[in-house]
Amino acid sequence: MTVRVRFAPSPTGMFHVGGARSALQNWIFAKQQGGVFVLRIEDTDAARNRPEWTEGILSALDWIGIARGSYEGPYYQSSYAGEHRAAAQRLYEGGRAYYCDCTREDVQARTGPQQRGYDGFCRDRGLEPGEGRALRFRTPDEGETVVVDLVRGEPTFENKLIEDFVIARGDGSPVFLLANVVDDMSMGITHVIRAEEHLPNTPKQQLLWDALGVKPPVWAHVPVVVNEKRQKLSKRRDKVALEAYRDEGYLADAMRNYLMLLGWAPSGDREIVPWSVIEEEFRLDEVNPSPAFFDEKKLRAFNGDYIRALPVADFVEACRPWLTGTGTIAPPPWQPDEFDPAAFAAVAPLAQTRIAVLSEIVPNVDFLFLADPLIDEAAWAKAMKEGAADLLDAAIGAFEALESWDAESLKATLEAVGAERGLKLGKAQAPVRVAVTGRTVGLPLFESLEVLGRDRTLTRLRAARVRLV
Ligand code: GLU
Repeated sequence: MTVRVRFAPSPTGMFHVGGARSALQNWIFAKQQGGVFVLRIEDTDAARNRPEWTEGILSALDWIGIARGSYEGPYYQSSYAGEHRAAAQRLYEGGRAYYCDCTREDVQARTGPQQRGYDGFCRDRGLEPGEGRALRFRTPDEGETVVVDLVRGEPTFENKLIEDFVIARGDGSPVFLLANVVDDMSMGITHVIRAEEHLPNTPKQQLLWDALGVKPPVWAHVPVVVNEKRQKLSKRRDKVALEAYRDEGYLADAMRNYLMLLGWAPSGDREIVPWSVIEEEFRLDEVNPSPAFFDEKKLRAFNGDYIRALPVADFVEACRPWLTGTGTIAPPPWQPDEFDPAAFAAVAPLAQTRIAVLSEIVPNVDFLFLADPLIDEAAWAKAMKEGAADLLDAAIGAFEALESWDAESLKATLEAVGAERGLKLGKAQAPVRVAVTGRTVGLPLFESLEVLGRDRTLTRLRAARVRLV
């Protein structure tokens, strides 16, 4: 039997990192089993779906290595409404479901506000289908439903505690629980790997599989992803959108490696491992069922490691969208006056060791690509204290006289200018750095000046000097 798994996101918002984690787990499991990965977009909630969310899911999956064209689908759940209705009808005709006209208030009036769930009032009333009548599944009174779950063992649910749940609404439209099962059935899904939050649905869904006469899939409910306060990641509170990480300059390789560590670890004392190792070693039955902490700080550090490990040429290429406002990322709030690839290539190795996310390249090198540096006024106030004008005058004079415009000569020159004024190099650098780059921190100064070139450096130093008059 060919293993068939599916990833079945609902396009109701930005694509969530927890969803990306489940998608990757499905993807790897299919690959390991020589199986098929199916993408199904569960777009039946017309009020909350938007086509751009679907496109966001497809492009985010692409980004982390689940490329369009390399899986089956996407299928759209909304295209199968006929099948969902037919299954509901079959359950009704087979006596496995019945119509109910109770309102919530009716039920509460009978059971009292404390009791949850439906009391079975319409079970034997034999109501015909009709406007406003919901279709409820008749859950067995006895026995138990044992869910075979690769992550959680065999969670067991007593059938008598499962209410007669709704499978089609009063307007005849089937609910998620049923549509999801019918699609899994018709798509031949053998393993359902999904987030833990669906576990309460699982005994109900398994009862539907049984009632429809098809062997249920093997389940794997992977742990919920939580923040540092152990709260489930929420789009209102936490940064959860995969696209947000991509646009900030997380590398896809770092991201997918990190996502796979949520509840699992490769062999040895390793966390950063090539994707091929993860593909080989990952085991669903080794996934820890407890909530997995999505540690943004750790992910950041992780990404920094990945950035440092890139060949310089790849790093240069990876930074380009942030420096030129092109590529798939949202354009940065910064545009170069003129981007010079050679100048960037010259400073790239210096920047590569200093940034944790690619977007941080911008404040490090923007001075190279702007006609005038963006002056940070707080930095200016700090650096341009008493003595700054005199130091700049001396530096301008000494730099003008330099024969060779290289980092070493520039450093020796400014060192001498500082020494004449009783200043250590660090102090002598501050006004020069702010005049030229606009900031107090950044790449090594003398290499920066070398790449910026004599004319532009001197122009900026003179402009700063004029401002100090
Ligand atoms: N559409 C459901 C969701 O996005 C997925 C259900 C499932 O994986 O079974 O939560």
